Amino acid sequence: MSVEFKNVSFHYPDASAGVESISLTIGEGELIAVIGPSGSGKSTLLMLLAGFLVPDSGQILINDEDASGKPPEKRDLGLVFQSYALFAHMRVWENVAYPLKVRGVPSMQRRKRAEEMLLRVGLSGMAERRPASLSGGQRQRVALARALIHAPRALLLDEPLSALDAGLRVEMRDEIRHVQRDAGIATLHVTHDQEEALSIADRVAVLRDGRLEQVGAPADIYDQPATRFVAGFLGHANLWDGTARDGGVETAIGFLRCDTNGVAPGTGVTALVRPERVLTHDSLDTNRPNRFPGEITEDRFLGAQRRLDFAVHGGVVSVEVAHRDKVAAVSIPPEWIRLL
Ligand code: ADP
Ligand code: MG
Repeated sequence: MSVEFKNVSFHYPDASAGVESISLTIGEGELIAVIGPSGSGKSTLLMLLAGFLVPDSGQILINDEDASGKPPEKRDLGLVFQSYALFAHMRVWENVAYPLKVRGVPSMQRRKRAEEMLLRVGLSGMAERRPASLSGGQRQRVALARALIHAPRALLLDEPLSALDAGLRVEMRDEIRHVQRDAGIATLHVTHDQEEALSIADRVAVLRDGRLEQVGAPADIYDQPATRFVAGFLGHANLWDGTARDGGVETAIGFLRCDTNGVAPGTGVTALVRPERVLTHDSLDTNRPNRFPGEITEDRFLGAQRRLDFAVHGGVVSVEVAHRDKVAAVSIPPEWIRLL
C-alpha cells in the first residue's frame, strides 16, 4: 500500500494560505515525517489525504487508485490527532474496536481483535478501563490501537505526541515506530519537533509556506540541506555568508578552505557547519586547516554536551563539545563545510 500526492494544490477560500504543487510518494511501509514551522501547511496536507479537504488541482492516489471524490470514511485510513478524541463513555476496548463496529464486525470478534491491538501497544489488562482513568501516554496508545485495528491502507498522525511531556514523547515515538514497522503501513507523521522527525522517519519532508522545500533521508537532510532555511530549521547551524574563491570561501570570520564543488569564484554562497563538527584545541599550536583563535563567550550546559559560543575575529563560531576543556582555538574540518 502506498500513497502519492501528484502536484496537489489547495487554497482555503478567502485566504491565500494552503499548499502548493505538492508531489510526494509514501512507499509501502514507509514513514514520512512532515515538518515545518507553524502555519506551513502540515495539517492541510494531512487533511487533504484524509479527504476532509479537496484539492483545487492535482491528484491523490491511495494504493495507485485516485482518491478524488472519495469521502473520508471510504478512504480506509487510520488517523491519530494531538487530542486523542476518545469516546469518554466507552471502555478502552470499545474505543479500540470502534472502527470494526462501524464495519459491522460481530462483538466477540471485535473484543478479540481489540485485545490483540492493546497487547501490541502495551496496554493489555486495560481493556475494561474508561479513558478518563488513563494517563496521556496511555490514551495516545489507545488512539494508535484504534487507528490500526482495521488494517488501514495508510496511517496519518498529526502531532500525536505534542501534548505529552518530554520523556514520554521519546518513549511513545519509539513505540509508534515499532507498531508502524510491524504493521508495514505507509505513514504520514506530522510534527513540528525536528528531533522527533529525524529520529522516527525513513524520510523527512520539510514544508515552508505550503511548499515542499526538501524531501530526503534524515541524515541527508541534516548534512546536506538544500537551502539555508532547511539548514537553520533542522538542528543548530553555523551559517556564514560569503563569496566563493578558488579552494574555499571568503567569510566574515576569514577564509574557509573547502571543496567548492565547482561553484564559480565570485559567487555569493552561504557556508554551513554543524556545531558538533567543529574541533576544539587547547593551544594555538595546531596545524589543522581553518583554525581560528578566540575565546569562549557563552557556555551552555545541555546534559550530554555543552554548546559554546566561541568568539573569533569577525564573528562567532557555535561549537558543541562533550567536555569542558580549555579552548584556545577551534578548527573547521574542510569536509564538514557545505556551501549553500
Ligand atoms: P500547520 O499544521 O503546518 O501549522 P496548517 O496546515 O494548519 O499549518 O495551516 C496552513 C495555513 O493555512 C496557515 O496559514 C493557516 O492559518 C491557514 N489555514 C488553516 N486552516 C484554515 C481555514 N480553515 N481557513 C483559512 N485558512 C486556514
Ligand atoms: Mg497543524
